[in-house]
Amino acid sequence: MQDTIVILTGAGISAESGIATFRASDGLWENHRIEDVATPEGFAANPDLVHDFYNARRAKAQDAQPNAAHIALARLQSEFAGDVYIVTQNVDDLHERGGAKVVHMHGALNSALCAACQTRWDAPNVMHKTDTCPNCGTAATRPDIVWFGEMPYFMDEIADRLVGCTTFVAIGTSGQVYPAAGFVQEARNCGAETIEINLEPTGSQYMFDRQITGKATQTVPAWVDEVLGA
Ligand code: NAD
Ligand code: ZN
Repeated sequence: MQDTIVILTGAGISAESGIATFRASDGLWENHRIEDVATPEGFAANPDLVHDFYNARRAKAQDAQPNAAHIALARLQSEFAGDVYIVTQNVDDLHERGGAKVVHMHGALNSALCAACQTRWDAPNVMHKTDTCPNCGTAATRPDIVWFGEMPYFMDEIADRLVGCTTFVAIGTSGQVYPAAGFVQEARNCGAETIEINLEPTGSQYMFDRQITGKATQTVPAWVDEVLGA
């Protein structure tokens, strides 16, 4: 059976591209309370604020460039003899622009979603609550972002990949946001080797067989070289 590597990435892999991480310690994301900008209740209470927030995140992501870690994972995906499945919690598109194929379990800044009929389309640079759906015409446009309390995308597909994987790697994720934080346990249950790559050990470090500590732009290319035998 061929080796299958499942990689979970988080905000830390984009940090050196200049995109701020979510600071779980104080519950703030770019100086906003998570309750205000990343929950359905926050959106219902103040849709203008939430659209402004994601419009700003989109602009920031467009200005950012993929870094050596994103590019190394794309190289792994194209050169590894087995299968490399990358699932990201990030809503930026730096993995794709670095050349990788990824699934966005928490949605994407470059996608718009109709809350009335669930149609998706390419997000305009600036999204407004008065934008109408190209399918049903309702003015219920929202960022295609999975907020706290909502079901992440691709969960069945991810579960299938975790069951068969031989190696599971978590990169730049604090391990505090579920269900992603539980993936390492699912991989362990199937006998996979588990590796954490992070700036510093996280609280879930005991779940991993191996820790690689340091900046993603250095540690990820080095780990990819190791896997590819370079
Ligand atoms: P997090 O912000 O909670 O944790 C980031 C982790 O990255 C930390 O453990 C930190 O030690 C590590 N880190 C920071 N800089 C690093 C570097 N240079 N190299 C390696 N590791 C580094 O991130 P999370 O676990 O992904 O959870 C954040 C949630 O907020 C997600 O649900 C995500 O959707 C959202 N978010 C996304 C983005 C993005 O798309 N880039 C940015 C902020 C938040
Ligand atoms: Zn619609």
